[in-house]
Amino acid sequence: MLILASNDDGYFSPGLEALVRAISTLADVVVIAPDTNRSGASNSLTLDRPLSLKRASNGFYFLNGTPTDCVHIALTGFLERKPDLIVSGINDGQNMGDDTLYSGTVAAAMEGFLFGVPAMAFSLADKGYGEVEAAAEMARRLVMHFLENRYSQPTLLNVNIPNLPLSLQQGFRTTRLGKRHPSEAVQPGLNPFGEPIYWIGPAGKVQDAGEGTDFHAVEHGHVSVTPLRSDLTHRDQIAGLDEWLAPVHSR
Ligand code: MN
Repeated sequence: MLILASNDDGYFSPGLEALVRAISTLADVVVIAPDTNRSGASNSLTLDRPLSLKRASNGFYFLNGTPTDCVHIALTGFLERKPDLIVSGINDGQNMGDDTLYSGTVAAAMEGFLFGVPAMAFSLADKGYGEVEAAAEMARRLVMHFLENRYSQPTLLNVNIPNLPLSLQQGFRTTRLGKRHPSEAVQPGLNPFGEPIYWIGPAGKVQDAGEGTDFHAVEHGHVSVTPLRSDLTHRDQIAGLDEWLAPVHSR
């Protein structure tokens, strides 16, 4: 068994280290992660310059690129065989609801999914790596379950783990993504030269955290597991849009 691990917080992240340590008893694990914190990188590829892969003293490889670059390069040139699973994380902070669109953690997993490799993105619900060892153990249980009982569908799982010790973890829950309000407005500041500067702030407050959502599950101590797909087509709108477009044909 071969597992490829990546993240968006950088190859030095305690979350990545804890995850790799936890799953290394289950399979061979190769790590390729960004050389800096690339949180918020989403599904970006670096196309305007070459990329360099280097090996750290602990065996982790690091790349001067995005999380998506890491997985792309691993699958298109670096790894000699296709991995059985790709894991990403454990992220420093939650990736729930709309966060998933911006997340580099989810993007690394999604890149594997696009290449037909099952993938899981892991995030610890609170920042600061408080209960990262408990989170790594929960991740290990899910990975072990996957390796022993393959899921029949193409697999892209977004996993958010409550920041709780093992004794308080309430087990796994299948969820849908919740929804956030847009981010709060951030007042521009001034740089040392008196010019205005902008710094994008944190995600907005939760809007839909109802039963069945990732937010609700984590709030109640469950590990939230959301099945994702990459096709953004809004299927319910196909017929309505087709009708709306019809008059344009005759012009
Ligand atoms: Mn991150």
